[in-house]
Amino acid sequence: MTRSLTLLGATGSIGASTLDLVRRNRDAWQVEALTAHCSVAELAALAIEFDAKLAVVGDEACLPALRDALAGSGVEAAAGRAALCEAAARPVDMTVAAIVGCAGLGPVMAAIERGGTIALANKEALVSAGEVMMQAVARHGATLLPTDSEHNAIFQCLNGNRIEDVARITLTASGGPLRTWSQAELDAATPAQAVAHPNWSMGAKISVDSATMMNKGLEYIEAYHLFPVGLDRLHIVVHPQSVVHSMVEFRDRSTLAQLGPSDMRVPIASCLAWPQRMETPLAPLDLAAIGQLTFEPTNEALFPATRLAREAIAAGGSAPAILNAANEVAVAAFLSGQLRFTRIAALVEETLARSNDAPRPASLAEVLDVDQSARRQARSLLETQALV
Ligand code: NDP
Ligand code: MG
Repeated sequence: MTRSLTLLGATGSIGASTLDLVRRNRDAWQVEALTAHCSVAELAALAIEFDAKLAVVGDEACLPALRDALAGSGVEAAAGRAALCEAAARPVDMTVAAIVGCAGLGPVMAAIERGGTIALANKEALVSAGEVMMQAVARHGATLLPTDSEHNAIFQCLNGNRIEDVARITLTASGGPLRTWSQAELDAATPAQAVAHPNWSMGAKISVDSATMMNKGLEYIEAYHLFPVGLDRLHIVVHPQSVVHSMVEFRDRSTLAQLGPSDMRVPIASCLAWPQRMETPLAPLDLAAIGQLTFEPTNEALFPATRLAREAIAAGGSAPAILNAANEVAVAAFLSGQLRFTRIAALVEETLARSNDAPRPASLAEVLDVDQSARRQARSLLETQALV
C-alpha cells in the first residue's frame, strides 16, 4: 500500500536520512511536497527524483531560481513562509518535520491543525510553542511521533506501559566533541571543532548545540511536553558512546532502554513504519566490538546550558521560547565568528534575564511574537559587544 509523505527540510541532514529510507522503499511512498530554505538546486533535484507534486523554498528571493530549475518537470514551485504552511496543510499520511529552528513552527502547526501524523525532528518548534502545540495536538487529534533519537527511544520504551507507572525518564547525552575540554580550551573552541561530533553526523546548528549541551537542554524541555511525568522525573546522564539512546525506569525499578547504532535512520524508520517496523540498511549492533558503555553526570559548571533549560521550563510561560530564540541567535553568531563558544550560554542567560516580563504565549502568533522580541534582545546584546 502506498502512503503519501511531505518532508519539511528535505535538503538537511534529517531530510537526507529520510529520503535515503524512502529511496530504498520507493514503491511504498508517494511524495507530496518537499521544502528547503534556499538550497534550490538540491531541492529541485530531489523533487524531480522523487516525483514530488510540490517544491517550496522558505526564502521568496529563491523562487525564480526554483522555477527555472523545475521548468518542464511538472513539479509545482512555491516560496515564502505562507507557502511552507500551505504545503504542510496538504493532506498526507505522514509529515516529517525537519526544518531547523523556530522557522519550522508555523509549518508544524499547520500539519497539526489538519490532524496529521507528524514525525517531529524539529525540536525547537516544540520547545518554543510548548503547551500551545500540545493543546493543538489534542484539539485536532494529531499524532506526534518523536523522531529525536532520545525521545524516540523513550516512546518505544513506554509502549504498552502506563505513564503513571513511570518513576524516572533518563535522557542520555553524548557530551559532544568538547566534553573533556578545560575552561580555557572551551573559551578558544572554533566552529570547526564544535561541529566535529564524534558519534553523529548532523546539521551545523544542532552540532553546536550538542557541543554546548544546549541540545540536551532543548531535549529536556521537549521530553517534558511529550511525556507528562513532571520535571522531577526527568533526568540527564552523559553516555559518550551514544548506544543507549534513553531509558525509562518504572516504579517496580525495572528500567527499559533502547539501544541502536548512532544513525538517525533508526528513529526515522521507527516513525515512518509506526506502529510496525521496517528494514534499515544498518549493520547489527555489535556490543562486543563496542566493549564498554559508560555513564557520567553532566558538568554544569563547564556546560551551563542544561541548567538554563531546566530553569526556563521550571519558570514556564515565555521562558523556553526566549531560551530557544536567544540560542538560535547565539549559535549563528558563533558559527560566523562573532561570538566565543563559551559566550553562547552567557548570551542566552542574559537574554532571559532581560526578558523576564514577557507574557505567557497563548497562541501561535504570541509564541512567534515572543520569539521575535527575544531575537531582537539577543541581537542588541551582541551589538553592545558586552558578551563577545
Ligand atoms: P540541517 O541544517 O541539516 O537542515 C535544515 C533544513 O531546514 C534544510 O532543509 C534547510 O534548507 C531548512 N531550513 C533552514 N532554515 C529554514 C527556514 N528559515 N525556513 C525553511 N526551511 C529552513 O538540520 P538538521 O537536519 O540537522 O536538523 C533538522 C532538525 O532536526 C533540527 O531541529 C534538529 O535539532 C533536529 N534533529 C536533527 C538531528 C540530526 O541528526 N541531524 C537529530 C535530532 C534532531 P536549506 O538547505 O535550503 O538551508
Ligand atoms: Mg537527540
